[in-house]
Amino acid sequence: METKLLDPATDPTALQQAADLLRAGQVVGIPTETVYGLGANAFDGAAVRKIFAAKGRPQDNPLIVHIADFAQLYDLCPDVPPAAKILANNFWPGPLTMIVPKNGKIPPETSAGLDTVGVRLPAHPVAREIIRLAGLPVAAPSANLSGRPSTTTAQHVLRDMDGKIPAVVEGGACTVGVESTVISLAGDVPRLLRPGGVTLEQLRAVLGEVEVDRALHEQVGEGEKVSAPGMKYRHYAPKAPVTVVLGAPDKTAAYIRAHAGARTGVLCFDDCAGAFDGLQVETFGRSDDLKAQAQLVFDRLRAFDDLDVSDIFAQCPDDRGLGLAVANRIKKAAGFRIIEAG
Ligand code: AMP
Ligand code: MG
Repeated sequence: METKLLDPATDPTALQQAADLLRAGQVVGIPTETVYGLGANAFDGAAVRKIFAAKGRPQDNPLIVHIADFAQLYDLCPDVPPAAKILANNFWPGPLTMIVPKNGKIPPETSAGLDTVGVRLPAHPVAREIIRLAGLPVAAPSANLSGRPSTTTAQHVLRDMDGKIPAVVEGGACTVGVESTVISLAGDVPRLLRPGGVTLEQLRAVLGEVEVDRALHEQVGEGEKVSAPGMKYRHYAPKAPVTVVLGAPDKTAAYIRAHAGARTGVLCFDDCAGAFDGLQVETFGRSDDLKAQAQLVFDRLRAFDDLDVSDIFAQCPDDRGLGLAVANRIKKAAGFRIIEAG
């Protein structure tokens, strides 16, 4: 199949075409402020199976359902928890997914057989307008091939999905750049399952106690049960193996310089690039600019696949604020192969 790029800047029918495809049970690449998603009608199990096929995604990994306004949550969730209203008031529309009890309209394909569903109200106007025009909740995981770095431009989506889906909608580069924060409201205490654009500090400021799932900090084994099934899979990985070097930027730069081979690639902060003369370098923002790091991290991880590198060393922010999300993506790309540089 030919994959069309639908651009609302040049084609006034682009968003309606995307909505019509969704209503017809097709899969469409959709921009959001976090990453580009592969969307399908969340109520249609057969449509959702096409997402898993296009991505090569494991069937036990549930999808996030995207809605266009808060009232739509009542179509998915029989009993909206009080914490969901607090979170929606503070962070929706925006990069936050809440796991809530689901009703019978959500097929097992969408929720991977769980009795809960992840729901998000995105801020990107193109995403919201497509969902509104379709009149459906839209299930969408990131639009990358399973295991590869997530997609933050329409070109990334075309690279992974060309010939596999009928259309991708152009919406510019994603402004957040890492996937949504995922918080479970299904237990007694809210639990952070995946760090993202809404920080743990922000969540605690409005909810009080928030637990942190152990999958954030370590590799979870294939057979193990985890709260967010997606967290156990190797993710975001370029083809060459990645090693994360933790510590102050000057220390990590010195460590990498001392241990780099001739074909080593380096993912580094802008202000450290000078230390890596002669090596293949991808920069992802200044060491003090977490917003830029989040926006760029996936694009730069992807860029290594076009370079002839044997291995990759990566600098990494600490866990404060948005750093928790950026560091989580880099550590996952490395399969949690981590070195402390003093
Ligand atoms: P992605 O669609 O690639 O952004 O990944 C969605 C993330 O949300 C994965 O880590 C999923 O495991 C997690 N997720 C989605 N729905 C649920 C749910 N009902 N319970 C737990 N985690 C979920
Ligand atoms: Mg993903």
